[in-house]
Amino acid sequence: MLDITKKKLKEAYKIDERVFDLYERALEDVKNQFKYYDEVREYNQVKVLNAMQRERISESHFTNSSGYGYGDIGRDSLDRVYADIFNSESALVRPHFVNGTHALCCAIFGNLRPGDTMLSVCGTPYDTLHSLIGMDAGKKLGSLREYGINYEQVDLTEDDRIDFKGIEKHLRENSSIKLVHIQRSTGYGWRKSLLIPEIKRIIDFVKRINPDVICLVDNCYGEFIDTLEPTDVGADMAAGSLIKNIGGGIAPTGGYIVGRKDCVTQASYRLTVPGIGGECGSTFGVMRLLYEGLFLAPHISIEAVKGAIFCARIMELAGFEVLPRYNDKRSDIIQAIKFMDKSKLINFCRAIQNGSPVDSFVTCEPWDMPGYSDQVIMAAGDFVQGSSIELSADAPIREPYIGYLQGGLTFDHAKIGILIALSRIL
Ligand SMILES: *Cc1c(COP(=O)(O)O)cnc(C)c1O
Repeated sequence: MLDITKKKLKEAYKIDERVFDLYERALEDVKNQFKYYDEVREYNQVKVLNAMQRERISESHFTNSSGYGYGDIGRDSLDRVYADIFNSESALVRPHFVNGTHALCCAIFGNLRPGDTMLSVCGTPYDTLHSLIGMDAGKKLGSLREYGINYEQVDLTEDDRIDFKGIEKHLRENSSIKLVHIQRSTGYGWRKSLLIPEIKRIIDFVKRINPDVICLVDNCYGEFIDTLEPTDVGADMAAGSLIKNIGGGIAPTGGYIVGRKDCVTQASYRLTVPGIGGECGSTFGVMRLLYEGLFLAPHISIEAVKGAIFCARIMELAGFEVLPRYNDKRSDIIQAIKFMDKSKLINFCRAIQNGSPVDSFVTCEPWDMPGYSDQVIMAAGDFVQGSSIELSADAPIREPYIGYLQGGLTFDHAKIGILIALSRIL
C-alpha cells in the first residue's frame, strides 16, 4: 500500500496502525487462492462471451418493448444466452421476478401439485422460503402447505455433511416426493457452501433412487464461482437473483430460472399465467443492463470472492473464527464471521455501511424485516437497493452473533470496507 493511501485512510477513517500490519500479512497469505480464482474467472469470461456471440447479440436486443411484450427479441435472446451458459435446455430471465425468492417460488409452485411433497436435503432452507413452504402454520399466505403441497426435510449430519441415509429413507418411504431442494449457499447458517461435485453427488444419488424427482438448486450467490454450474451436473432446475452475482452489479432487478424445458415452462406459468408463461412481459428498457451485467458477472463475482477470502484471512489473524477459512475451496461469495458479541457484530455492519459509496452517513439498525423471524441488520450502501453483489454485511441478531459479509464491485472497495470495519471493532 502506498504511503499516501495509508495517510488518506488514517485521516478519513482513523484506521488503527495494527490493521495495516494485518492487511499486509493477509494479502500475502491469500496469493495462491487468488491465482486459482483468476483462472476460474478467465474461463467463465470465455463462456459468457462465446454465448453472446453465438446468439449474435446486437444493438437491436437492447431496445424496448411495451404492452404485452410479444416477441421481445432482447428478452427471448437473453433466455437463450443464459440457457447456453448454464448448459441447459431453457431459461427464464426476467426483470419481473422481484427477487431470488420469487424465482424459487415460481420454480417450486409451478412444478408441484396438491398431494406432492418437496424434500429439502440441506436442512432448513433460506429464511425467506419459510413462508412459501408454510412453516409459519396458521397464517393465511397462500403457502405450499395451504395448497396441499407437503414439505419434508433432511437435516445435515452433526459434522454438517449431507445425510445420504436420511435422503434415501425419505425417498423410499414417501412416493409423493416430486422435488428435491438443494441449497448451494449457506444462507444464515454456519456451514460451508456446497461445491459442485457435492451437488452432483446428491443429484446422482437422488436420481438412482427415483429418476423422476426434480432436482432444484437454489443457486443464489453461486454463479461463476466454479467453472461448472449445477445444471452442468444434472440439476433439472437452478434459480437465483439478478442483484447477486449474475447481474454483475449492473442489473437493476430480476431473477432467473434455468433448466429442463418442461420444468422452466411450468415455472413460467406461475410467473405470469397458465398457458401464457414467458411469452408475455415487456421489458421496460432494462435489457441492455441485463446483458451488460451478465457480461461483467464473471469478473465481478471473482472480485467479490477475493473480498471474502481477504476478509476470512484478516479476521482470522485478528482473532475471530471464520467460515469458510481463506484457503477452503468456495462455492459462493459469502464470508461468515463469528463475533460472539452483539455490539461487535452491529459495529462491524455499521462500519461497512459507513464505508459505502452511497448512504455512507447512515447508521444502520436491526429491524423486523419481512420474511425473517429474528431481527436482521443489513448494511448496504448500494447503487441498487439491497444488492448484495455490492459490498454488504448482514446478520440475524441471535447468538453466537455471526455476521455475513459479501460482495464488493471491486476488490479494492471490499478491502477498504473491511479495514474500516476491523479497525472499528479492535
Ligand atoms: C439471497 C438468497 C435467496 C433469495 O433472496 P432474495 O433476497 O429473495 O433475492 C435465496 N436463497 C439463498 C441461499 C440466498 O442467499
